[in-house]
Amino acid sequence: MANEQTTHFDITVIGAGIVGLSTAWQLLQRYPTYRILLVEKEAEVGTHQTGHNSGVIHAGVYYAPGSLKADFCQRGAQATKAFCLQHNIDFDECGKLLVATNDIEHTRMEVLFQRCQENNLEVHKLDQGQLKEREPNVKGVAALFVPSTGIVNYRRICEKLAELFISKGGELRLSTEVVALDESNERVGITLNNDVVSTSYLVSCGGLMADRLTKMLNIPTDFQIIPFRGEYYRLPSKHNKIVNHLIYPIPDPDLPFLRRASYAHD
Ligand SMILES: Cc1cc2nc3c(=O)[nH]c(=O)nc-3n(C[C@H](O)[C@H](O)[C@H](O)COP(=O)(O)OP(=O)(O)OC[C@H]3O[C@@H](n4cnc5c(N)ncnc54)[C@H](O)[C@@H]3O)c2cc1C
Repeated sequence: MANEQTTHFDITVIGAGIVGLSTAWQLLQRYPTYRILLVEKEAEVGTHQTGHNSGVIHAGVYYAPGSLKADFCQRGAQATKAFCLQHNIDFDECGKLLVATNDIEHTRMEVLFQRCQENNLEVHKLDQGQLKEREPNVKGVAALFVPSTGIVNYRRICEKLAELFISKGGELRLSTEVVALDESNERVGITLNNDVVSTSYLVSCGGLMADRLTKMLNIPTDFQIIPFRGEYYRLPSKHNKIVNHLIYPIPDPDLPFLRRASYAHD
């Protein structure tokens, strides 16, 4: 429980993945006089989803034109690239190929082409020969080429965000887990594994722990996160040039989440 001796923060953010770090950094820039705490249960930043994702800077091919997702994805991609340029973080605008392997997928590819255009994305249709030229190791009847898709190491972005946050007076506590929360009218008491603090505002960016954190405040949730395990394999570096772009199948509209991707670089 929070008491008078408890350290008090104006804002506390839980979770130093990309969402928590960018939230904390944006808040600090907007409210430079606020005391802002970012707590992360791991010993380093960006070790969960953010550090194990595919590293793609998505262009926003699939999202419904005019939707918030389409807008956020495009603005996010631009902001990510601008941030990398500003802070000397490597990224590779290698482009993405959506490859049709039969006539049905070729028809679906045309619909996706329209969608790219409605989303104001630069997109090119490749015939079989043009596909072969770009990707000798990929078999397909046609493809869409979206040049603006890129890849980046999101952990490096996290490390830079943490550095910026700390340099402007933000407090980052690693190896610090939120184990309990209690809310009153004035403040939220936060029990950490190694301290007790309080905060005027709490922002939860706990990724796959979002439902557990919400339950700590006895807030009813209508969702539950079901994690499932993924396996990663790294090819020997002599295979790094096996493909030159990000390669995606044309998504099946009945199975929109079962997209696979293979990557030319780490
Ligand atoms: C397999 C896979 C591939 C993906 N590929 C891409 C991609 O290519 N491009 C893309 O843009 N997106 C991709 N995504 C999505 C993207 O990775 C996520 O949307 C993003 O990383 C989520 O960031 P986050 O900060 O919300 O979560 P996380 O990175 O999971 O961060 C949450 C943090 O909260 C901390 N935390 C949780 N509970 C507590 C607690 N009680 N106390 C203290 N700390 C706590 C955790 O330790 C963790 O560090 C992919 C996702 C997955 C799973």
